[in-house]
Amino acid sequence: MKVLVAGAGLGGLCLAHGLLRAGVDVRVLEREDGPHSRYQGFRIALNAHGLDALHACLPERLHALLAAVSGPMAGERRVVDQRLREVRRLGPADEGTATDRYVLRQLLLAGLADRVEFGRPVVGYTERADGTVEAHLGDGGSAVGDLLVGADGVGSAVRRRLLPRAEVVTLPGNAVLGRTPLTARFAALVPGFGTVVHGAAASMLLGRMEFRRPPRLAAAELAPDVRLPDTGSYLRWVVMPTEPLPAGPRPWEAVRTDLLARLDDWHPDLLDLVRQADVVNSAPLTARYAEPVPHWGGSRRVTLLGDAIHPMPPSGGQGANTALRDAALLARTLAAVQRGSAELPAAVEQYEQRMLEYGFVAVADSLRRLPDVTPAR
Ligand SMILES: Cc1cc2nc3c(=O)[nH]c(=O)nc-3n(C[C@H](O)[C@H](O)[C@H](O)COP(=O)(O)OP(=O)(O)OC[C@H]3O[C@@H](n4cnc5c(N)ncnc54)[C@H](O)[C@@H]3O)c2cc1C
Repeated sequence: MKVLVAGAGLGGLCLAHGLLRAGVDVRVLEREDGPHSRYQGFRIALNAHGLDALHACLPERLHALLAAVSGPMAGERRVVDQRLREVRRLGPADEGTATDRYVLRQLLLAGLADRVEFGRPVVGYTERADGTVEAHLGDGGSAVGDLLVGADGVGSAVRRRLLPRAEVVTLPGNAVLGRTPLTARFAALVPGFGTVVHGAAASMLLGRMEFRRPPRLAAAELAPDVRLPDTGSYLRWVVMPTEPLPAGPRPWEAVRTDLLARLDDWHPDLLDLVRQADVVNSAPLTARYAEPVPHWGGSRRVTLLGDAIHPMPPSGGQGANTALRDAALLARTLAAVQRGSAELPAAVEQYEQRMLEYGFVAVADSLRRLPDVTPAR
């Protein structure tokens, strides 16, 4: 059996590992020109679903490296005002472990050099009379397999063709996502799991991304053939102004100036956190989600996973975890087909029924957890 995966994101790469472990032939077709060509560095909270999926799919020799480039997500949650005076405590939380999306993606690329084809966007597909599927690529080429998996993220070209009526909604409001290198001064802002700052003009969520070991060094020691980026620990912050910032794409410097103007009476540590943000990895944040879709029926040679079918706002910390869960479930399902104990169309439909059920529960949960940005009094 040959599986084509559109998209070398977290879900697509996890699936590719799971399939290779099961002896299934796989090709991953990725739109971007290379593994480093895009802003992609933010903190990802990994819950039990995400970690179980990664452990099930990644080769065992990479498990210790995954643990080394993760960090804790536990401790007290505090609410403070804009001058950093504690307003209340929300009690301790333990949400598993955190890692960085870019670091995780590089780790997931390990061992897949001959499987991932960069610069090859999937722009459409044809289901052929012989039961195979042909993916059409933006470079004019094509690829043929027994199954095409759209793991091509929130703007999925595969979903647009398979489910043209599926609706993706952009949430109103505009948050700004930033990250600032973790120094002793900034670490004091988040003594536990996280800190929420409630000010009159904005709210700010703060969380730490503190790697147990620096990713590049950890890879050199634990899996010398794997190249991880030289990413240092950082503080991840999200500012949600009560009055929207100007819309449209703008340089970071302009966004930062607007933001600082809104926060002018905030504590100097918070202002410096914004001033010293990493320019490449800080930007306005657009949150989107999908309306639930019923199963599309029929037994096709095309399916979807992750943000391509159930995008959700980051508020629940579940998008990547659900994409990874989909990947592990689909890999398990296709492994049974490879062994000859299941038929491909029926197995894929079974995967879809389960994935749609828990996927849209996660979307609803994430929408319920959208933060309240009512101005502080
Ligand atoms: C600020 C922020 C914080 C987040 N925090 C968390 C968190 O804490 N926990 C969590 O679980 N989730 C979190 N998420 C969500 C998470 O990042 C996504 O849900 C997850 O990356 C989805 O994985 P995916 O593989 O489905 O898609 P992606 O990771 O988006 O990958 C899609 C891939 O497909 C490629 N592609 C696109 N179009 C095509 C095409 N036509 N052909 C070929 N390739 C294509 C893209 O270039 C990309 O490489 C967060 C998101 C944001 C924005």
